[in-house]
Amino acid sequence: MSARILDGIKIRDEIFAELKAEVSSLAEQGVRPGLAAVLVGDNPASQLYVTSKVAACEQLGMASWLHTPPANSTTEYMLQLVDDLNLDDRVDGILVQLPLPSQIDSKRVLEAVSPAKDVDGFHPVNMGNLVSSRSGLVACTPAGCMEILRRNNIAIEGANAVVLGRSDIVGKPMALLLLHANATVTVCHSKSRDLPEIIRRADILVAAIGRAGFVQADWIRPGAAVIDVGTNKVTDAAEAERLLANFPQRLEKFRAKGSVLVGDVHPDAVNTAGALSPVPGGVGPMTITMLMSNTVKATKLRRVSGGMPGRFQPASAAR
Ligand code: NAP
Repeated sequence: MSARILDGIKIRDEIFAELKAEVSSLAEQGVRPGLAAVLVGDNPASQLYVTSKVAACEQLGMASWLHTPPANSTTEYMLQLVDDLNLDDRVDGILVQLPLPSQIDSKRVLEAVSPAKDVDGFHPVNMGNLVSSRSGLVACTPAGCMEILRRNNIAIEGANAVVLGRSDIVGKPMALLLLHANATVTVCHSKSRDLPEIIRRADILVAAIGRAGFVQADWIRPGAAVIDVGTNKVTDAAEAERLLANFPQRLEKFRAKGSVLVGDVHPDAVNTAGALSPVPGGVGPMTITMLMSNTVKATKLRRVSGGMPGRFQPASAAR
């Protein structure tokens, strides 16, 4: 039987409708959530991401500002810019698009963002809040995976959850969110042994490793819920033929376009899993959605309900 498809676009539309209502209600209180995006240089993929984030703000009636420092900007320049945004009361969320050019100390810049405005959820204070179950801003992609599970009524409590990948932005926060929702969580990585055996025990599998079609269909426990975070652009014809042998329409599209997006889970898993987030159209749309949700949350925490614990220090004070 074919898996239930966990449609990220449908959930994005639901959450956008909820956020629009929240933005209107904030407007009645004289508050307009605002996101400042910082895009350094002219990386085309980054430009595309940032443009869609700014467009999402407009769609929801939120303010947005796009800062585009040149590719040769220095760490000091970026710290000053972040400082200015930290101090600007109209700015509720600060998004520094990664990757930054190599001469910029990315870690220092990200750590200079006020935790109260860290809508990417990357700041160590927000990571610490997540570890200790305190209120804070959670990284967007794992937060989006949780929305997919919850809004599809997939039981998390007591479930065996396997998270494949342990990055700071996806795997680790994902494992913590599942743990806080009372799943029994196993985290795997490139040094894990017997991956197929571990994955076969999963009621919920979250795959986030960046390897096209790595998780084979027969590793999936029949009926399991599979959240595929991987977004891998396949351009090699032999690889596309191997991955999409049972999907002639997708293969046809690949032949016409020369590339196809494939997740970390082999597309054949649709015949083993009970529920599956597709690539594209599953986790992808949720990341921007949760960025918008975090911006509204940051607005309410900072401007409506009187701030977050551990108020930020401007970067200049920390230097
Ligand atoms: P990352 O920082 O490169 O981390 C990859 C993780 O996967 C690491 O923990 C690595 O293990 C593990 N890994 C790599 N190869 C493995 C293997 N053969 N077996 C087991 N584990 C393996 O990647 P990321 O930023 O977390 O992203 C992961 C994927 O999600 C990528 O495809 C990325 O494009 C996608 N992504 C999508 C969205 C979205 O919005 N849809 C957002 C973010 C990321 P080690 O720690 O041992 O090296």
